[in-house]
Amino acid sequence: MSKAKAPRHEPIPIGEIAAPPFVRLPDPLDLFAKRSLRLRALAEGHQLGPYLLFLAAISECQHRIQRDLPAPDLPAYEMRMQAHQHGMPPLDRARFSADPALDATLERLFALAADIDMPDDARAALRRARGADAAEREAIVNAVLADAIPVEALADCVFVAAALQVHSARLAARLDAATLVPIGDGVCPACGGAPVASAIVGWKGAHGARFCTCSLCATQWHAVRIKCVLCESTKGIAYQQLDGASDTIKAEICESCRGYVKIFHQHRNPQLEPFADDVASLGLDILLRQEGYRRGAFNPFLLGY
Ligand SMILES: [Zn+2]
Ligand SMILES: [Zn+2]
Repeated sequence: MSKAKAPRHEPIPIGEIAAPPFVRLPDPLDLFAKRSLRLRALAEGHQLGPYLLFLAAISECQHRIQRDLPAPDLPAYEMRMQAHQHGMPPLDRARFSADPALDATLERLFALAADIDMPDDARAALRRARGADAAEREAIVNAVLADAIPVEALADCVFVAAALQVHSARLAARLDAATLVPIGDGVCPACGGAPVASAIVGWKGAHGARFCTCSLCATQWHAVRIKCVLCESTKGIAYQQLDGASDTIKAEICESCRGYVKIFHQHRNPQLEPFADDVASLGLDILLRQEGYRRGAFNPFLLGY
């Protein structure tokens, strides 16, 4: 698959490297610890403060359960090569639920999450998730993997989604980045997931380039700027932010598909964390929904959006 060129009108800051890496695999031992700190910082004085603190505690569990957790099994080498040849992601979502490492991840997350201070309905959801039989659990796992969480099971899915994020980030971390191929701007090349958001990064060697972050495995992939990651149109792209809010958090709106994905200017504020800041900028989603735009990103913790 050929990579599209950046549109001519895209400003290229001085010092920007023209060829950023295609993909950056997640570091699960760093990812959730940082996310937890960011959520905690965002919670201060925030309207969603208690929810952000709850998610900070979940992220802390996601970090802590990894100690001595059995390594997840990558798909067989031949399967991964086959995926590579056919332009498919190597991590097969249909296979996740059969992995004993996922069961261990779910069990540990449920056990650790029981110590979190949470509202009664969340605690009831945790109890249900913990008590689910194998078939019920598989159904929730598959719903989260399909980005198709039923409204009545939103709360039940949060804990399962948290465990799946850990499991898939650990799987993705074991992949060889050089074997991943572009599938589409809005599709994770490691697991086929939807992006949670995108960010203009300040990384050495990629400063000023835009990367999408996978909502499931947290792999980051390059997506050129001023181009809709949902329909790949380069026409009718605009940016919107909340009045009075930081201009490092915007939505990239596409008039072709009437969809949007957030774009964080991480190169100007390295504290921005796609997942945490996506939840904390819910006000922008509410505004854009009122204006008739469709959220194209997925976040299992941004209930109802
Ligand atoms: Zn992914
Ligand atoms: Zn579009």
